[in-house]
Amino acid sequence: MSNPEDRNPGGDRDWSVVVEDGIAKTNDPVSSAVAEPAAATRRHELHEPAREELPQRLYEKREFVHNKRIDGPFRRFKWLVMVVTLAIYYVTPWIRWDRGPYAPDQAVLVDLANRRFYMFGIEIWPHEFYFVAGLLIMAGIGLFLVTSAVGRAWCGYACPQTVWTDLFQHIDRFVDGDRNARRRLDNAPWTWGKVLRRGFKWSIYLLVGLATGGAWILYFADAPTLFRDFFSGAADPIAYATVAILTLTTVTLGGFMREQVCIYMCPWPRIQTAMLDEKSLIVTYKDWRGEPRGSIKKAQKNPGQFGDCIDCQQCIQVCPTGIDIREGPQIGCITCALCIDACDRVMKDIGRPRGLIDYATLEDCEREAAGGEPKAPWRTLLRPRTIAYFLIWGGIGGALLFALGVRSHTELTVAPDRNPPFMLLSDGSVRNSYTLKLRNMESRPRDMEIAIEGLPGAVMWTDTIRASDAAATQTVTVPADLVRQVRAYVAVPEGARSQEFTFRVTSLDEQRETDTVETRFDAPED
Ligand code: SF4
Ligand code: SF4
Repeated sequence: MSNPEDRNPGGDRDWSVVVEDGIAKTNDPVSSAVAEPAAATRRHELHEPAREELPQRLYEKREFVHNKRIDGPFRRFKWLVMVVTLAIYYVTPWIRWDRGPYAPDQAVLVDLANRRFYMFGIEIWPHEFYFVAGLLIMAGIGLFLVTSAVGRAWCGYACPQTVWTDLFQHIDRFVDGDRNARRRLDNAPWTWGKVLRRGFKWSIYLLVGLATGGAWILYFADAPTLFRDFFSGAADPIAYATVAILTLTTVTLGGFMREQVCIYMCPWPRIQTAMLDEKSLIVTYKDWRGEPRGSIKKAQKNPGQFGDCIDCQQCIQVCPTGIDIREGPQIGCITCALCIDACDRVMKDIGRPRGLIDYATLEDCEREAAGGEPKAPWRTLLRPRTIAYFLIWGGIGGALLFALGVRSHTELTVAPDRNPPFMLLSDGSVRNSYTLKLRNMESRPRDMEIAIEGLPGAVMWTDTIRASDAAATQTVTVPADLVRQVRAYVAVPEGARSQEFTFRVTSLDEQRETDTVETRFDAPED
């Protein structure tokens, strides 16, 4: 075997071999060890102690997290966010919004059948999808903004997975008691009592899942009608299928998988890790203050030899993802700050200053570790990066609002007949035919005037207006919130020549909205 040190001049890595149960470290570079297919290999890094034993298994069985109840400012804030977000989700489809007799009165409605999206006073048509795209972009940049300013606050407080997991954990606590009681029950053999308790708890899970899936479908149809139809068995099968799928996913992801989704399934923690910098707020254990850790007894026996951490493990016990923040920032930390509440309470009880675990930036940590003063957290919010994100976010929002404010509710499209392009009438005049589409985006019928411009002597009639009533302008009524298709016939007296001209449509109301389309009139060549 070749000596890897030769290929790594100046390196002093230990490549010694240990092969146990198919797991190996190797004296050889990794490539030659891989030739032994039964052995998994890894490189021995510089900082590792020599001949370190590798874990025997790459898969570790999940330990269910039974987090302990805690109270404190961050927990109360989490309560507030949970109540507000769940209320918004469950209540919004029931809010009514009067749009007159020609449009639905549901404040937020995705009307797939008619291809409309209603949001309070705003109605989005399919051709205006850029508004939805703009909102999605704003949501993305908003997440960047929040992450660069306050770390994973989205994960810790407002992400649906966090909110529903929190809800299910409260149900656990309500039915089975706090952490120790739940652990005891988990480890207890299956008795009738345990079966009944589990049955009761899982029934509540199911109800929550059902309410979640049920609320979702109410965003896609008139909520009171769909609610009635759903329970009378008259709803569309797709509604039942959607509720079933969402009930299953809610119970599975929020009720059973919980922190596993955050740690293993969700891509967002990985993206966020790349977005954090030394000025982003994260939940941090101040090891320069807490270490070496030791119980109060030890600290009393050996004054001055221990830090502030009394190794009570309260921070681990309240953590919804079950991690130990004292091991440093990690992907499992959703920055919910419940460990701050727990540790602050411990510090208060033992008469030491709060903030052994706290929101801090890496920059602050270095300063504090060197004996400097902490910065007020709000100062980390105002820095070029967050301001830039805010300006982009605000700019897109402003542009969308402007576009909404100035958008016209009247639109015209024109498609000329091309086969045949013209017809010669008996009096020598030339006729062209067109299909006009007049869009009325208001929730009331409107009269619209169609006019021909730039085509001298031209007159027009339609499929509902006789040729004997032909004129340079015609008026048609377009129903509320609809596109009306009109066949228009344009005739020019004998001697007409091929040329461009314009159709102009004008709404005959107080707004006098107008739209024009240039098209072509064809005539026989000389
Ligand atoms: S709660 Fe505070 S004192 Fe207790 S183990 Fe955690 S960091 Fe140490
Ligand atoms: S370590 Fe603290 S902030 Fe992170 S998830 Fe656990 S309790 Fe929340």
